Amino acid sequence: MDLLSTVGQATKRREDYFSQAKALAKKYKTQESLEDMMAKDAKVIVKGLRDKQMRWDEYERTLLDKTLISALAAVYLGAGNSKPDDKMEKAWPTIIGDMLPPLVKFLSETETYVNDGTLRLGDKTMDFADYNFDGVIPGADDMDDDELLGTNPAEQGAIEAAKTAATGRTWPSLFKRVVRYVANPSYSFYNLGSYMKHQEQGYKEMQRVGLQDKKTCKDCTRYHEAGWQPIGSLPMPGKGCTCFDNCRCSIEYR
Ligand SMILES: [Zn+2]
Ligand SMILES: [Zn+2]
Repeated sequence: MDLLSTVGQATKRREDYFSQAKALAKKYKTQESLEDMMAKDAKVIVKGLRDKQMRWDEYERTLLDKTLISALAAVYLGAGNSKPDDKMEKAWPTIIGDMLPPLVKFLSETETYVNDGTLRLGDKTMDFADYNFDGVIPGADDMDDDELLGTNPAEQGAIEAAKTAATGRTWPSLFKRVVRYVANPSYSFYNLGSYMKHQEQGYKEMQRVGLQDKKTCKDCTRYHEAGWQPIGSLPMPGKGCTCFDNCRCSIEYR
């Protein structure tokens, strides 16, 4: 699927996405549990593809749907009781612009790996039922990708193996990449909803507070040190920093 037809398909299903997102937000109530549940959904989707319970076009469409519904639900939750439906409407172009171009590229890469046998359908070497979720949700623990995949970068060939895994050419790494579309961005979109609410309520200043641990990147440290700034002048967590969707900076308003 190319970008233009994906945008077209998303636009056609817009109203449906909005009502599903609203239902999801009401069901999960917090961004944390939304993210957690979407990560579990990611496992079901990837397993469905691998075990041939889902055809490629179904997989593609499910991933598109979940990515957009999760982002919308996060905006809804971030907006709280401050006209959340309006906030979803307002955030829609941002969601489409941020999520669809990388998603289309990701899907086409996965399709190539499935067609050339890099990702083997029916491959049972990974037991999804036992798969450990640690490290999938940022901040859940300190394990990095290499530890999670059982490779030691100091060993010969391991760096290459980790690189291969990191780009979605194995089932566990594909699962982790899917989580980065359907689950992790909910943090940034939650903050977008909350930003819209505070702006509307007349707050004048914002500050981006970093976790300031060893994983906080240089960009996040710079925003943190900048302190209070006029509202609208700082990017949302996950934007304008090299942590991307792993960023867990928070925003304060006054
Ligand atoms: Zn950062
Ligand atoms: Zn950050």
